[in-house]
Amino acid sequence: AAKAAGRNRVRLFTADLRAAAQHRATVASELRDAVEDGQLVLHYQPVVHLPTGRCTGVEALVRWQHPRRGLLAPADFLPIAVQHDLMGVIARWVLHTATRQTAAWAAAGLNLVTAVNISANHVAAGTLVADVQEALTDSGLPPEQLVVEMAERSVAEDVERAAAQFAELRRSGVEVSIDDFGGGFSSLGQLVAMPTGLLKIDRSLVAYPEGRRSQAAAAIAAVVALAGACGVRTHAGGVETAEQLELATELGCTFAQGFHLARPMPAEDLTGWLAGYAGQPATALF
Ligand code: C2E
Ligand code: MG
Ligand code: MG
Repeated sequence: AAKAAGRNRVRLFTADLRAAAQHRATVASELRDAVEDGQLVLHYQPVVHLPTGRCTGVEALVRWQHPRRGLLAPADFLPIAVQHDLMGVIARWVLHTATRQTAAWAAAGLNLVTAVNISANHVAAGTLVADVQEALTDSGLPPEQLVVEMAERSVAEDVERAAAQFAELRRSGVEVSIDDFGGGFSSLGQLVAMPTGLLKIDRSLVAYPEGRRSQAAAAIAAVVALAGACGVRTHAGGVETAEQLELATELGCTFAQGFHLARPMPAEDLTGWLAGYAGQPATALF
């Protein structure tokens, strides 16, 4: 009986695996059409410059407006896109859409710096620099208004290639940022040598749990000191409370972003949010 039960478990397990693989294949084939059908959208989350309290930029975050399943988060489809070789087309769509939107805001008198997320496979493919240049040329956006972000764990996959491509981007005027800094386990020695102008401190450090303020403060202060020594600015990501914003400001982070300031929103909502934000006295925010 025990053997039979074991066999049944194995059968159940393979059935689960088959169902999961089937689901991924369905999502991949739908995703292939989604880009062409205009089902991908970018939401933009405001980035605040702490010394002045002004919103100086946004981060572009991709979503999939699925015809039946609703608005899907990157975690629901980007891993499948990577497995099915769809990241190239998605990444180029993101770059083109974000740069065009930023150029359109600039034409309307709103100058923002837009950050776009890049995956490890874009660096591996070797097309990152050319794809960024093409988006800039096509949109007419000055390179100074674009930041390319790559997560620390993605940088760690191939530090040398990432470093070479980041250096080239920075020579062309595009800023490079290391995302989720302090959330992975990469070598600090390698990271301080990266050609980057910005470190985005991981949410796990910024959104500290109740009662862990002093430990979080020590960790953030260490990153700010390290960044300062490298001539790199810091950005506190995932700021969820007024206390966390106050801490990031006190410790000398240059930028902050998080639900406490604003959630990611469709492009058309940004001007409305900015009008409300600018209308608030600085003391109410800090
Ligand atoms: P990320 O680049 O670290 O982006 C920040 C994520 O944290 C976003 O989730 C954002 O909505 C969320 N977030 C912002 N503030 C807060 C906060 O205060 N609290 C909490 N709990 N979360 C906050 P999202 O949009 O689901 O994106 C997840 C990840 O997917 C991104 O992490 C990024 O690594 C990746 N991603 C998003 N868009 C793209 C893209 O266009 N291309 C690539 N390659 N990756 C992308
Ligand atoms: Mg990011
Ligand atoms: Mg992050």
